[in-house]
Amino acid sequence: MQSGLQDDQSTLELGLGDRAIGNGRAMADYHLLPVPKPRAEVITGTVALHLAALLAFVPSNFSWSAVGVAVALHCITIGLGISLGFHRLATHRSLRVPKWLEYFFILCGTLAAQGAVKGWVGYHRMHHLHSDTDGDPHDSTRGFFWSHISWLMHGVPMRSKLPRFTQDIDRDPFYTFCHNYYIPLQLALAIALYAWGGMPFVVWGIFVRLFVGFHATCFVNSACHLWGYRSHNSPDRSTNCWWVALLTFGEGWHNNHHAHQSSARFGSRWWELDLVWHVVQLLQALGLATQVKTVRTASES
Ligand SMILES: [Zn+2]
Ligand SMILES: [Zn+2]
Repeated sequence: MQSGLQDDQSTLELGLGDRAIGNGRAMADYHLLPVPKPRAEVITGTVALHLAALLAFVPSNFSWSAVGVAVALHCITIGLGISLGFHRLATHRSLRVPKWLEYFFILCGTLAAQGAVKGWVGYHRMHHLHSDTDGDPHDSTRGFFWSHISWLMHGVPMRSKLPRFTQDIDRDPFYTFCHNYYIPLQLALAIALYAWGGMPFVVWGIFVRLFVGFHATCFVNSACHLWGYRSHNSPDRSTNCWWVALLTFGEGWHNNHHAHQSSARFGSRWWELDLVWHVVQLLQALGLATQVKTVRTASES
């Protein structure tokens, strides 16, 4: 085990039964914390999406072109949108791109329909500041289900603190537009897909694609704080999880990311495939990405 970029700590294996690292609280204690109030609209929407995705099992809804549309939209909305736009660009400011390109990536992420952009950015910044403690909205020490999906379905107490974490984007008109209209934008995409390819394009390009993208991103919060290996002894439970990295174009190298939060590069070993990093390199070669932070500059800052 090696890496020219990794810290000098040894790799640790984590499992569901492990106790929390760094915050001194065991997983078994999570039930002592108060459970916030459920958000009925989020629960309803999530259940509806899962049921709608089952329409993929109806033979008349299948076509290879519909699957192709779903895969292409997954790459655009999760790879370029969530991983590059929402996460590395908007949340961590790991690179700079022209404003028009930043807005394009934010629009791509908005079409992943993972909630409104300011909430996504704010909650993720909270997660880094309070990783795996009570101030973390998806504190993994409360269990897999909480960190994966349940936290979204509850009015977490730190919601009121969101504006403090999003001051840099709060007044940006394009972020505000995407924040306010992410559901109508998804409906517009659905209508366009229906006009283009009928129900198969809607079932695969919207329902199945949103289902896969939603859980792929949720696994970063759950699986990547429970399973996999640790290359860095960061003060949290973060792990590197190869299959999450494949689903999310590099986000699964989450322990690397927690160790070097401002770096635009998440994969550090040669086999830690980080496709978004290669997109960043391409943008850099084209002169479209500047001030790209890497492990070296991140650890020096
Ligand atoms: Zn994390
Ligand atoms: Zn992050």
